[in-house]
Amino acid sequence: MKYYSTNHKAPMATLREAVEHGLAPDRGLYMPETIKRLPESFFENIDKLSFQEIALEVARCFFGDDVDEDSLRQIVFDTLAFDTPVHQVKDDIYSLELFHGPTLAFKDVGARFMARLLQYFIKKDEKATGVHHEVNVLVATSGDTGSAVANGFLGIDGIHVYVLYPKGKVSKIQESQFTTLGRNITALEVDGVFDDCQALVKNAFMDKELNDHMKLTSANSINVARFLPQAFYYFNAYAQLKRMGLVGPGKNDMVVCVPSGNFGNITAGLFGARMGLPVKHFIAANNANDIFYNYLQTGVYSPQPSKQTLANAMDVGDPSNFARILDLYNNDWKAIRNDISGATYSDDAIRKTMKQCYDGTGYVLDPHGACGYQAISEQLKPGQVGVFLETAHPAKFKEKVDAIDNADIAIPERLQAFMRGKKQSVEMPNDFEAFKKYLMQI
Ligand SMILES: *Cc1c(COP(=O)(O)O)cnc(C)c1O
Repeated sequence: MKYYSTNHKAPMATLREAVEHGLAPDRGLYMPETIKRLPESFFENIDKLSFQEIALEVARCFFGDDVDEDSLRQIVFDTLAFDTPVHQVKDDIYSLELFHGPTLAFKDVGARFMARLLQYFIKKDEKATGVHHEVNVLVATSGDTGSAVANGFLGIDGIHVYVLYPKGKVSKIQESQFTTLGRNITALEVDGVFDDCQALVKNAFMDKELNDHMKLTSANSINVARFLPQAFYYFNAYAQLKRMGLVGPGKNDMVVCVPSGNFGNITAGLFGARMGLPVKHFIAANNANDIFYNYLQTGVYSPQPSKQTLANAMDVGDPSNFARILDLYNNDWKAIRNDISGATYSDDAIRKTMKQCYDGTGYVLDPHGACGYQAISEQLKPGQVGVFLETAHPAKFKEKVDAIDNADIAIPERLQAFMRGKKQSVEMPNDFEAFKKYLMQI
């Protein structure tokens, strides 16, 4: 399968090139050339398959031409060593819990999948050429991406990860998830803000001397290997609802609501629908960063500086995957509006939703999932069953959640284990020459 750029000014890329480079040379995002449709029989029997088996079938459509069957099976089965269960919150509304992975956030799946796919290509190369090249992944993080990438790549030989994060600006829980790992993961504590970390990484990719010295790759969410595997979730939601007798021929329609920031997760869902998954409608739930919501209302896309909110992983003022949505729909605003509706919530509205849901149902929402729950509660119609994606475990935001819900939620053992770990980090001034010097001596 070949990949084209959403800007249509770059040559087609192989999967390997798309994964190694992330962004196309014309600064566009890579898109698979075709989206294969799965046969009717697959959907008829989907409720009899495990999450791993479902995901393998979906993965074959995207990666089956480029990765041999045994390796793809290993990659998928290793990535999905946990489930994404649905949980009835209220009436026809279900939460799809995407937080049972290593760092309790949905980004775990994409990060692990990308790590294993990159490792597959490196090994293949080594076999063909007899030369071993260590690959170095640089990732800037304001919190969640760093932990998912670090844990996804942990222990993958041949790849070393450098996580750059702003000193003192990441919560202790988040920090512990990428500074305590050791092995092939190095945390660089930058004396600056998130944008400074991102600038250091961007400069590193543009520095010729550095790129001649070592192989550098990014692992941000625009990478096809991080983004496409998120389609698995939507199939797994449908399979579970079908098993419960709620959806399927002659039953209710499934509507999916996705708390969105960079719009990677929902775009993967749109791909799923193109593959034949029966999703009646999508809802993109936003916090106060309402750029997509406004686009749906007016047809005009006007990026804004991001606003800080309670649901901070969705604080995005210019969602990168918007380019993929436009491409998927040939820039047809009406068609996009037909399939996706929007919603936007202030911090006050998020707090109110969390408290009401907790008091009324006992279900603890995190601030991101709260946007999803509220939007689906407002928009679900008779004859529909609604699934909202719970994108992170509420304990990752324990202080906020406890204060809002007036509760004392338990911290899962996995998170406690990170917090017990010993912090190891390298202090780094906010200065490219210093960062380059550090990398050059590796
Ligand atoms: C990344 C993230 C989101 C937003 O996902 P996108 O794919 O960027 O739209 C939502 N919730 C949480 C908890 C996240 O970490």
